[in-house]
Amino acid sequence: MSQSSPNQSLTTSFHDHFIYNSNYRILICRTCQFALLPKSDAIRLHLQRVHRYLDLDLRKQCLADAKTLDLASIEELQSLIIDEPIQYIQGLQLLDGLRCDACQYLCGTLNSINLHCREKHKWTWGQEHKPMWKSCHIQTFFPSERRKFFQVHPPLPESPPPQITTDTLIEQLLQRKRQSDDSDQSQLTIVPDLTQCSRGIGAYSWYRGTVIGQLH
Ligand SMILES: [Zn+2]
Ligand SMILES: [Zn+2]
Repeated sequence: MSQSSPNQSLTTSFHDHFIYNSNYRILICRTCQFALLPKSDAIRLHLQRVHRYLDLDLRKQCLADAKTLDLASIEELQSLIIDEPIQYIQGLQLLDGLRCDACQYLCGTLNSINLHCREKHKWTWGQEHKPMWKSCHIQTFFPSERRKFFQVHPPLPESPPPQITTDTLIEQLLQRKRQSDDSDQSQLTIVPDLTQCSRGIGAYSWYRGTVIGQLH
């Protein structure tokens, strides 16, 4: 018998739960933040074991949709060499990693990089031996034993939309007045964009009355 969470409905689509990345031909679970093993049985088991709270019909639909996708094999993905940082892959977990300066080896913990540098580069911690690694951002297609990190450029923080302040509006009004005077027009026409005024229509109306009163 299937279990449904109160917010779950059959209108939920495949894309609400998964991202198909056509560049790498991987199917990423949005919740788990890694790529599913490219086998229909593995996808079915993932849905059944990890996302059992999803409606059974929805799970069946997701599985049917997944079967239509062109997915890279595990071997293809494991043999993929990504030796330069790439743009982060949306949907995969973004992790803080460490990169060896000598051989570009990547790992996710200080213990791992310590061990790597000691064994591969005879590195030892001491006054004359500084860390021979740097922090970076990493991702991996699969977790656990199939984990293989690659370095990524993290997403840029979203910048807020530019806002036009009331000071800017006044400057625009004065500029229009000057242009109006230059062209010897007697009537000043003002059509500001009220939707971009950060202090709202009330504040704008006050400025408008004041400025127009000064201009005439
Ligand atoms: Zn999942
Ligand atoms: Zn190394």
